Amino acid sequence: MTGILAGKKGLVVGIANEHSIAWGCAKAFHEAGAELAVTYLNDKAHTYVYPLSKQIEAPIVLRLDVREDAQMKALFDAIEAEWGKLDFLLHAIAFAPQQDLQGRFVDTSRVGFLEAMDISCYSFIRFAHLAEPLMKDGGCLLTTTYYGGEKVIPHYGLMGPVKSALEGSVRYLAAELGLKNIRVNALSPGPIMTRAASGIANFNELLELARQKSPQHKTIRIDCVGAYARFLVSDEARLVTGSIAYVDAGYNIIGG
Ligand code: NAD
Repeated sequence: MTGILAGKKGLVVGIANEHSIAWGCAKAFHEAGAELAVTYLNDKAHTYVYPLSKQIEAPIVLRLDVREDAQMKALFDAIEAEWGKLDFLLHAIAFAPQQDLQGRFVDTSRVGFLEAMDISCYSFIRFAHLAEPLMKDGGCLLTTTYYGGEKVIPHYGLMGPVKSALEGSVRYLAAELGLKNIRVNALSPGPIMTRAASGIANFNELLELARQKSPQHKTIRIDCVGAYARFLVSDEARLVTGSIAYVDAGYNIIGG
């Protein structure tokens, strides 16, 4: 297989269905020649993820709930046994309990805050810890954030501060792992209608506002996110680390 990711081994976490940002990235990685391990959250998700894993000929397909340490360890053990190394990983997951996500941020429960931080932020730090020994020749850790971590976006609520913490984690991980040639970056796509997005109140309004206000007046597509992700995990981006990479038709430069 030829392509800028030929010979590379990558882990993709976050495919729920064919609308997932992780799926747009997995397709781009596969087309560029990477071999991929993919995960699914539970039995229900397996129904959707398994046929997609076949399309990209993934040799490793494992169940993973990031709250389960044993499943995290089993995944990295399987990667080590199959490949003996890992070149890149994509972390494209997020969760916040509905009640906390749709309420006022000021009313956030401790349980809801901790669960959202654990799944959406801490898991990325844990992935970095588990991937480091497998990235002997360097590698790339990529996560997914949103502009609501930087500026206040209506209805994004609890997920805003969680994404701020994730973006801070990208910078601290990048600083610590730089000398090992392990790069750490975040993609920041504009709004895309996915299962996770459907949990955000008035998401259609957010989509329309982003389209109207962005310089390009375009709706964001997962294949465009995948194209940027493919570049970031490739050796072409060998000097890119600690960055937030917007795929938002320019929305982030517009004030007011
Ligand atoms: P999605 O629903 O397709 O993907 C979310 C994934 O998170 C699912 O695969 C789900 O199984 C996984 N997940 C949730 N809890 C988990 C757990 N405990 N363990 C393992 N996996 C778990 O939605 P998406 O929009 O593709 O979301 C992917 C990422 O992109 C998220 O971090 C999201 O915040 C981010 N993002 C989304 C948008 C958007 O508008 N859709 C914009 C910017 C950033």
